[in-house]
Amino acid sequence: MPARIDIVEGDITSLPVDAIVNAANEALAPGGGVCGAIHRKAGPELAAACASSAAAPPARPRCAGFRLPARHVIHAVGPVWGGGERGEGKLLADCYRNALNLAAETGLKSIAFPAISTGIYGFPADRAAFIAARTVRETLRQRPGIERVVFCCFGRESYELHEAALAATAPQD
Ligand code: ADP
Repeated sequence: MPARIDIVEGDITSLPVDAIVNAANEALAPGGGVCGAIHRKAGPELAAACASSAAAPPARPRCAGFRLPARHVIHAVGPVWGGGERGEGKLLADCYRNALNLAAETGLKSIAFPAISTGIYGFPADRAAFIAARTVRETLRQRPGIERVVFCCFGRESYELHEAALAATAPQD
């Protein structure tokens, strides 16, 4: 059965999925935005786990969810928007692809994404939603183990952008 792709509006820290993806920074430090919210809800154990990962970085960092309802946190460092000529689109696609591949390799079935890079990192939200939708659709075709992907949108505008992006990337048949 093909995976379900859902869009929800709200706080990613409340979602009881196998993994939520964190829009992390390179230091894997708590910081602001969605990352700060995830760390506040998970508790200090998450920052401690991140600190040891940052000291000896695995290729694709992943932690337990600690006090979150999600079982795991996958940390993805999105690109800082610099005008679009610095490979930002590919880097953003890599975040979605790598997180899904890691989830699939770990046997996880449900995964929720925030709109990576569209806050403090300044990536235009409409382009980012399109890249997210296209990359998730492409990757899911190769990853039948994943049953559900959630785009967790912070606000109505982001929700509508993801809805439009999913419609624009829907398979034709
Ligand atoms: P980045 O540094 O990658 O831009 P931000 O955390 O600043 O990351 O923003 C990424 C997106 O996450 C933005 O669209 C922001 O509105 C959204 N966001 C902020 N808090 C939450 C939250 N608690 N749940 C889901 N999304 C959130």
